[in-house]
This record gives sequence, C-alpha cells and structure tokens, in this order.
Amino acid sequence: MPRDGHGRIIDYLRISVMDRCNLRCSYCMPMEGLRFLPEDELLTAQEISLVARAAVRCGFRKFRITGGEPTLRKDLIEVVAGIRAASPDAEIGMTTNGILLPGMAIALRQAGLNRVNIHIDTLDEIRIRQVMRLADLNKILAGIEAAEQAGLVPIKINSVVVRGENDDDVVELARQTLTRPWGVRFIELMPFGDGEEAQTARDGVVSSAELMKRITATLGELEPVAASHPSDECRNFRLPDAVGTVGFISPVSDPFCSSCSRVRLSAEGRLLLCLLRDDEADLRSLIRSGAGVVQIQEALEAAILLKPVGHSLADGITASRRMHQIGG
Ligand code: SAM
Ligand code: SF4
Repeated sequence: MPRDGHGRIIDYLRISVMDRCNLRCSYCMPMEGLRFLPEDELLTAQEISLVARAAVRCGFRKFRITGGEPTLRKDLIEVVAGIRAASPDAEIGMTTNGILLPGMAIALRQAGLNRVNIHIDTLDEIRIRQVMRLADLNKILAGIEAAEQAGLVPIKINSVVVRGENDDDVVELARQTLTRPWGVRFIELMPFGDGEEAQTARDGVVSSAELMKRITATLGELEPVAASHPSDECRNFRLPDAVGTVGFISPVSDPFCSSCSRVRLSAEGRLLLCLLRDDEADLRSLIRSGAGVVQIQEALEAAILLKPVGHSLADGITASRRMHQIGG
C-alpha cells in the first residue's frame, strides 16, 4: 500500500477527464469568460489507462472518474474500459450531473463502471435553474433512473448547499431516503480560485451541523451508520425506518485531512496532491517524453510522499484552480 510522508495510506485516485461542462453551477463555473483546455492537452484514453496501470502497481484500489462533466467526453467508454483493464477488481465510480446518462449508462456498466454519484442540489424545478444553471430537473431524474436500471448502484446523490439558494430544500432531498435506497450526501460549500464563485462560496456556506438540525426537526432523529471505510469523508446516518442514508461531507467545519486517502489527476495530466492546495506533479510531460509504466509508478510514489496535510481555508487560502478543473 502506498503511504505518504505522514503515514496515510493513499489508494484512491480521482481522475478528471474533461474540464468542460454542460451546466454552470453558481459556485463552480461563471456563465461566461472561461477558457477550456484544447483537445490535444487532455490526456488520451490510452494515457489515462497507463496512469491507472501505474497506480495499480503502486497499490491503488479505488478510482473515480469526474470532470467538469465526464459524460461530455466522446471516448468515455474507452476511458472506463482502459481503467478496468488496468485492474479487474478495482472499484470504479463516476461523479456526474447525470443529464447524459440515459444514452450511455448501460455501455458504461458493460465497460466496467461500478456505480455513479449524481449531483442534484434541489428537487425544486425553478430553484434548480438558479443553483445548477442550465439544468433541467427532469433530465437529471431520468439520469438517476437510467443509472439504476443499468445497475450502477448503490446510487449516491451529491448536493452542495448554498445559503439563500437551496438550503430550504435539504429536507425534501433527505426525505427521498425514506423510500429510495440512495445515499443522499450534503457537501459543505468550498471556495476555489479568486473569482466571483469563491466569494459566493465564502458567503454561502451552511455547516453540516445546521443542516442536521433542520433535517431532524422535520424528519426525526438521524441514527449514525458505521463508516464503510476509515477514510470515508462522509458521515452517514439513517432516518427512522429509512431505506437509504443521509450523509454529511464537512470539509469546512470538520476537515478530514488526517484520514485523506486520495490524490487527483487533472484532465491535462497533473497529479494534484490536495483538493485545497496547489501542490502538484506534471505526469503528462513524463508520459509524452516516452516514460513507461515503471517510471510513472516511480513518479507517483515520489509525488505521494510530498502530499501535504491540512488545508488553510480558515486563513483564506485555497487552490487556484476552479472545481471544474479539479473534479471534486
Ligand atoms: N460535473 C460533475 C458533477 O457535478 O457531479 C462532476 C464534477 S463536479 C466539480 C464534482 C462535485 O463537486 C459535484 O458533486 C459538485 O457538487 C461538487 N462541487 C462543485 N463545486 C463545489 C464547491 N465550490 N464546493 C463544494 N463542492 C463543490
Ligand atoms: Fe458542472 Fe459539476 Fe461544476 Fe456543476 S459542479 S458546473 S455540473 S462541473
């Protein structure tokens, strides 16, 4: 198992395959003025597979495909198949806004994807257009259904809460777990970059503790559920007689840095050592200079040793990349 310089086991690689998106969530991307990576700067499906093979040699056992919006990538099936070929028994998940899933969920499952996390910030048709700008609620719901039918389960729902925008909607989302086997997870808003969205995030964060109070006041006590893995960043609970679970991811009010097990690969091939810091290593130059799997494995192991511990959000310091360039 690969360990970083602080003794943490690092065995989870999140792979951003695309910095573009078909939505413009208010806290993630501005409506205009963005510059995206040209196609030739994105890692190819073969290059991603090479990094996955090197990661498996290091001891990585868990992969997540993310974006931007990963389903916009035309060769996504090939990307999934390449990661699956690197490891027949790894857990491979994907984080998506779900809109394009109806046309591809079955093919993704057949290529080796295990499950999906689908992002939906509210079940209110009007409000969703204000928070997840350009979104259509029915299309996201159809994406969830397609994922369920394809067996990309258990479904996890990711919901970012923004004060004054969708904080009233958490109860309806949590209520879904009474009858559906979903893991509905509320994520505390984090600031990224130095744009308008970073300020929205600083002003709009709602703590997990506040959300828990709102949910219990209407739906009853939240019974803690044991963590499936010690490095799970989500604290999970169950409402009385619920089928699914309600979870809270609290990077701002209760950071989980001491048990972090992940590193990230950006769409242009940089290994990002922390979500909220800029420490990184350039793997694409190494790959394009002809490096093989052993050299990439060595580069991964060397970079992991330098993984920092602890973020500095409280001091106003964050990563300079935006979330759509990192993948969450
Ligand atoms: N487009 C896909 C989606 O939305 O699920 C994948 C990429 S998105 C960047 C990954 C996750 O990051 C989403 O679940 C989204 O809710 C979360 N996210 C985006 N911006 C965030 C922010 N400023 N703070 C906390 N979570 C954020
Ligand atoms: Fe797109 Fe996901 Fe960012 Fe929303 S959070 S704009 S869906 S990348």
